[in-house]
This record gives sequence, C-alpha cells and structure tokens, in this order.
Amino acid sequence: MLTSAFSGSLFVVAAPSGAGKSTLVNALLAQEPGIKLSISTTTRPPRPGEQDGREYHFTTAEDFVARADRGEFLEWAEVHGNYYGTSRLTVEQEMKTGTDILLEIDWQGARQVRKQFPDAAGIFILPPSIAALEERLHKRGTDEPHIITRRLLAAGGEIAHAPEFEYAIINEEFNVALSELQAIVKATRSRFAQQAARNASLFAQLGIHVQQPQS
Ligand code: GDP
Ligand code: ADP
Ligand code: 5GP
Repeated sequence: MLTSAFSGSLFVVAAPSGAGKSTLVNALLAQEPGIKLSISTTTRPPRPGEQDGREYHFTTAEDFVARADRGEFLEWAEVHGNYYGTSRLTVEQEMKTGTDILLEIDWQGARQVRKQFPDAAGIFILPPSIAALEERLHKRGTDEPHIITRRLLAAGGEIAHAPEFEYAIINEEFNVALSELQAIVKATRSRFAQQAARNASLFAQLGIHVQQPQS
C-alpha cells in the first residue's frame, strides 16, 4: 500500500451548465468541515452578484495566458468561449496540510487533473433531463438568452465525457443528490491510503507499515 504525498483528498466535480453543480457543492461545503473549494481564475465577466475572489478570480485573457505560460495552473481549459484555470500552488499547499480540495471544472480540466492525481475522486452531476437543464438555466436568471443557448448546445458535449468519471449523481431531488455527494466524500476519506496519510502516528503504533511515496 502506497500512501500519497498529500494527506488531503482531491475531488473533481463536473457537469453541464445548469445541472446544479455549484448549488450542490455549496450545500456540501456548508455541512462538511475540512473540505475547501478551489477558486478558479477565469476570463469570463462576473455575473451580477459575483465577487472577485469569492466565485472566481476574474482576470484578463492577457494575464491568464501569461500565467498559463508560466505553468501556474494545475489545469486550464477554454469553456464556452472563456478561459478557466486552477491554481497549482493553492491546491498543492492545501492538500499537503491535510485539507480536502474540491475542483468544479469541465471535462478537459478533469482529464489533466486525472493524469497528475490518479487517485482524485471524479464525480459527474447529471440533470434529470435536457428540458430540466434548460428550465434551470432560465430560472437561475444569471445569463443572457444567447449565453444560455450556447451552454445548452455545449451540454451534450460535456455529458459525452461523463463515462470518464468514477461517480455519477442524478440531480433530480436536490436532497437525495446532496446525500449521495456526501456519501462519496465520506467513502473517499476512508480509503486506506488517505487514512494512513492522515493518521500516520496511529498507524505506526498499530504496527501498520505503509510505503512512503518517492517524491
Ligand atoms: P456553470 O456551468 O453555470 O457553473 O458556469 P461557470 O461559468 O461557473 O463555469 C463554466 C465552465 O467552466 C464549467 O464547465 C466549469 O466546470 C468550468 N470551470 C470552472 N472553473 C474551471 C477551472 O478552474 N478549470 C477548468 N478546466 N474548468 C473550469
Ligand atoms: P451549475 O453550477 O451546474 O451551472 P447551478 O448550481 O447554478 O448549476 O444550478 C442551476 C439552477 O438550478 C439554480 O438556479 C439552482 O437553484 C437550480 N437547481 C439546482 N439543483 C436543483 C434541483 N435538484 N431541482 C431544481 N432546481 C435545481
Ligand atoms: P460558469 O461560467 O457558468 O461559472 O462556468 C462554466 C463552466 O466552466 C462550468 O462547467 C465550470 O465547471 C467550468 N469551470 C469553472 N472553473 C473552471 C476551471 O478552473 N477549470 C476548468 N477546466 N473549468 C472550469
């Protein structure tokens, strides 16, 4: 049994726009201590009510590309015509101290993360129907009609990558979906390697010897 260099677990959550990903993740974070959302950097303009540093770090395309060239992103991708990226330093620092990190990213980013963190738990949120997705995007009221159309057109492309994920959650009844997400988090935290990394001295006292990774 090989332990990870990071004692925190990494969760990757993806979904087509409007499936309820952010609502589910925010509800999870409100109830589960010890897990943090990585705030992505994006070139998308802020929606009404969004604050720089809370939903996203908002920036220009020029700055984003310069940072990507310097290798500052663990992953980055162009989604719906904007760039989005995850800060490598923030994620690695938090995970080293035992904090679990959750990334809300698209399938392209998830692929890049999987290559670097094969143990990351990948979770795909599915809507109960395409009609529900459309209705939720309209009801959310945050995007112009042409942006909603663009996101709905992209939904099929995102959903096509759902089989690359370890877990699937159908977000029909919100509370059912939330309890499934919580169950996945708890099961991932109980993986042997994660427990061994978090409880190194107990495992040593109990005479359980785990191999340390070569870093
Ligand atoms: P939402 O789909 O309504 O949540 O709209 P957003 O504008 O917040 O996100 C747009 C897309 O960008 C979604 O597919 C996200 O998963 C993706 N995304 C957000 N942050 C990141 C990131 O840091 N990296 C990558 N690769 N994708 C991201
Ligand atoms: P995403 O982050 O995937 O784009 P959001 O979390 O913004 O999606 O959710 C889209 C809209 O759908 C929001 O207005 C949210 O309140 C609503 N929503 C989320 N889950 C459900 C659900 N199970 N049933 C009905 N509406 C939902
Ligand atoms: P929105 O613009 O609605 O906030 O996000 C649109 C999409 O971008 C979502 O599917 C979201 O998951 C994705 N996204 C947000 N941040 C990142 C990121 O840092 N990296 C990647 N790859 N995708 C992201």
